[in-house]
Amino acid sequence: MRIDLVSIFPDYFAALDLSLMGKAREAGLVDVAVHDLRKWTEDRHRTVDDTPYGGGAGMVMRPDVWGRALDEVLDHPLPAADEGGAPPRRVLAVPTAAGVPLTQRMAEDLTGADQIVVACGRYEGIDQRVTDHYRSREYEVVEYSIGDYVLNGGEVAALVLVEAVVRLLDGVVGNPASVVEESHSAEGLLEHPAYTKPRSWRGLEVPGVLLSGNHRRIQDWRRDRSLVRTAHRRPDMLDRLDPNGLDVHDREILAGAGQVVRPRRARIRIRLARPDEAAAVATLAARTFPAACPPHLPRQAVEDFISENLTEEVFAQLLAEPRDNRILLVHEDLPGATEPIGYTFTALGGAHAMPTEMVRPGKIEMGAAYLSKCYVDEDWRGSGIAGALLERAVADVATRGRNSQVVLGTNVGNGRAIRFYRRHGFKVVSRRKFIVGGVVNLDEVLVRNITATQR
Ligand code: SAM
Repeated sequence: MRIDLVSIFPDYFAALDLSLMGKAREAGLVDVAVHDLRKWTEDRHRTVDDTPYGGGAGMVMRPDVWGRALDEVLDHPLPAADEGGAPPRRVLAVPTAAGVPLTQRMAEDLTGADQIVVACGRYEGIDQRVTDHYRSREYEVVEYSIGDYVLNGGEVAALVLVEAVVRLLDGVVGNPASVVEESHSAEGLLEHPAYTKPRSWRGLEVPGVLLSGNHRRIQDWRRDRSLVRTAHRRPDMLDRLDPNGLDVHDREILAGAGQVVRPRRARIRIRLARPDEAAAVATLAARTFPAACPPHLPRQAVEDFISENLTEEVFAQLLAEPRDNRILLVHEDLPGATEPIGYTFTALGGAHAMPTEMVRPGKIEMGAAYLSKCYVDEDWRGSGIAGALLERAVADVATRGRNSQVVLGTNVGNGRAIRFYRRHGFKVVSRRKFIVGGVVNLDEVLVRNITATQR
């Protein structure tokens, strides 16, 4: 590949002699030529700029000087691109704060060019007719930006482009796998955090999983960290992910990091309910409860249960005792979006604690936390919110430190819910009767132990 850099400050490009770039040049993997634009001036002062038509601050670079420079540089003889004698692919790259963002995809595409000419602007930039002209002569012209800020000149942006492209050329980076596994690579996620020796540094430990030697677990952990990082730092990148490439676990990890990608991308927030939110919780509870009931249950029984147990008064009582009763809400993180879309209620003790008849010595101990409710609006099914909410509820119990198990009951016919809880580390250990509006139903009882690491 041939690269030509045209600038009024050619010394800027001394950096290209260093490191991998310098080695790539020495090895003949890339041929870089640096040109001083002033070589193509024709006046005594070697002028490259003039005042802008239409007025305004600053100076603009003259098209005639650039035209002479680029005609010559773009005419540099190159070997035919293929045996059929097709013309070589020549790209004119013009850095500008008003350009399209330079991306890894663009860099990958530019590895296929035979020549890249970078025209580095200064002052207020280059007369627009320069890019218009070369585009009309059917050159490939790319006006690119390296970020939403303004630099003094295009040289730094030229170095960025050259480095991003050249390191992808065969033979430039020692271990080719390292350019595949990076941020912005095929998967479209940011890279996971990296750690090296020493294992313990200033009281900070390397995450235990990385020392486990279990490659599967390490891979899974790294992918989860990539998802969380991308959700926190670059949620816009999630829009470009193939939703079919995300499984339910991925969605739950993203939801835990506040991003949902289905049914549409939304930011969510999981937090403790405030004492004044009893009415909102009751409305959500009444709306979501019927979907968890077996289909044969009479409607009247469901309605009776709701009007007895899922009322504003009941939730107001629970919220008045936050030491024993924990209600977590999830809602869309939009200004003014107050209606929750999911909730959990966990009793750590007190009047709503786990009924004593649920105790099974050796399996369910007295004093287990009782996850009485975990519901998410139907519209948000499959979004990962329920999993994220459940994990947050368990983490909340762990943080309180009063209970070593979380117990719940769910209807024996609700296979979907049972699979969901199992996936989250709950085990079916017994059954219980659960009365809904006077009708007796059978529940599976599931339990999850809170491990030392969770506390
Ligand atoms: N008046 C121009 C504007 O508002 O877009 C800024 C001109 S800037 C002072 C001078 C030169 O720096 C530009 O011609 C361009 O080559 C380069 N430059 C500045 N910011 C850049 C960015 N974010 N990406 C790429 N090149 C940039």
